[in-house]
Amino acid sequence: MLQVTQGPQSPVLVRQQFSILGTASATYAGQTLTIIVDGRFRTTGPEIRPNGTWQVDFLFQDPGNRRLRLEVGTDSTEIVIPVVTSLPEAQRLRFTQIPTRIPVQQATLVEGTADNYPDGTELQLRADRQFELARPTVEAGKWRATIGFNQPGRRIIEIRTLDGQQRAEVELDVIGVTPRPPRVSFTNPPQRVREEETVLLSGGAENYNDGDQLILRADQRLELARPRVQDGKWQANTLFRQPGNRLIEIIGSEQDKAQFVLEVVAAPPSSFQILARSAWTSNPTPSSLPNLAPRRITIHHTALSAAPSTSATQAQDAARMRVIWNSHVNGNGWSDIGYHFIIMPSGRVFSARSELKRGAHDVINDGLGVAFDGIYTSATINQKMFDAAVALCTVLCRRYGIKNTVTPVPTATADFGTRNLPLILGHRDRVSTQCPGTEGGRTVRLPEIRTAVNAQLQ
Ligand SMILES: [Zn+2]
Repeated sequence: MLQVTQGPQSPVLVRQQFSILGTASATYAGQTLTIIVDGRFRTTGPEIRPNGTWQVDFLFQDPGNRRLRLEVGTDSTEIVIPVVTSLPEAQRLRFTQIPTRIPVQQATLVEGTADNYPDGTELQLRADRQFELARPTVEAGKWRATIGFNQPGRRIIEIRTLDGQQRAEVELDVIGVTPRPPRVSFTNPPQRVREEETVLLSGGAENYNDGDQLILRADQRLELARPRVQDGKWQANTLFRQPGNRLIEIIGSEQDKAQFVLEVVAAPPSSFQILARSAWTSNPTPSSLPNLAPRRITIHHTALSAAPSTSATQAQDAARMRVIWNSHVNGNGWSDIGYHFIIMPSGRVFSARSELKRGAHDVINDGLGVAFDGIYTSATINQKMFDAAVALCTVLCRRYGIKNTVTPVPTATADFGTRNLPLILGHRDRVSTQCPGTEGGRTVRLPEIRTAVNAQLQ
């Protein structure tokens, strides 16, 4: 009989000495045990004591499940002993939640477990194995902390006990986030425009807010417009009165500008002229009137009798302007002449109400009012009046960006609902009236005026 009564209860470490106790038949007293390791190495063990007990003290150099066989006489017994290089870690720190990359200056929650640590144990969270980030405490086997970094780069994040005996680490990329700078620009800027011709300038305004105001400037001193940003874009109508090369800038701030050079071409010389309001009165148009952004031109006749003759002097025409003014202001009770321009039978064109102010001429008043002086329900305008109307309307279309005067577009009217009408139209097209004459405007040659102006604009 040979048996083990006591051996290692748990794995042993390499080079850790341990003991195996056992008993044998008393007949083996004084005999020596033989030890066979893993069925290969045979060595001599201790003697069996007189009372039959024995003790083997042993250690292993290598890990693994090691088999020890003990023999004496015809008896033998075997024991398997797990041998390890280190004991299983009873306490263990781990990360369970941490992003692999975070932006700079963003607070980020990191979490982990702390197996077999008592509640309240203080841990240390470090960066790059030196900088303390936080001191989380263990609660129910877990820890958590909020971290953040001011500089981009790859960081080593470490959770450790205060004595550094237990630790775990992960890597984290801190990403630099540079705010995108605002940027204004021009979109397809024109190379060339005519003087006195309205041009729509537009462009982008990246990283601006809706409603932000930009400045559109010419030659670094003349402010043209203050467009507001909408959906990352801006636009503004501009008009140049001087020919030459102009430096056009859109400005968001001192740091954010865009520019291009625009060639303003002189209009061809013309004998056509618009006589200023000062040619017939020193009274200005009342500034209290609402402003006008003209969208079309409405043709009228003044419907006043006794118009000057085709050979009237400028003084006679100017006197007639005062008659019309008196009729509108003292007769109709208006603030000023209702029209913006009046064409005399002489072919002279007078500026009446300021074109910056809303007129009083066709109920809706969203356009410029141009009137032939006289009554044209049956009479027809003369050639000088026709030529003056074409020249005046061409100037006004260029000035206000009207590019097509023949194609009908849906237009609100006072008496006929929405109608398709061209941008040069007659008073009677929107209001129930005979003005400016019969036969759909034939007496004032309205269709011919439209066509002639449109040809000038192309
Ligand atoms: Zn009219």
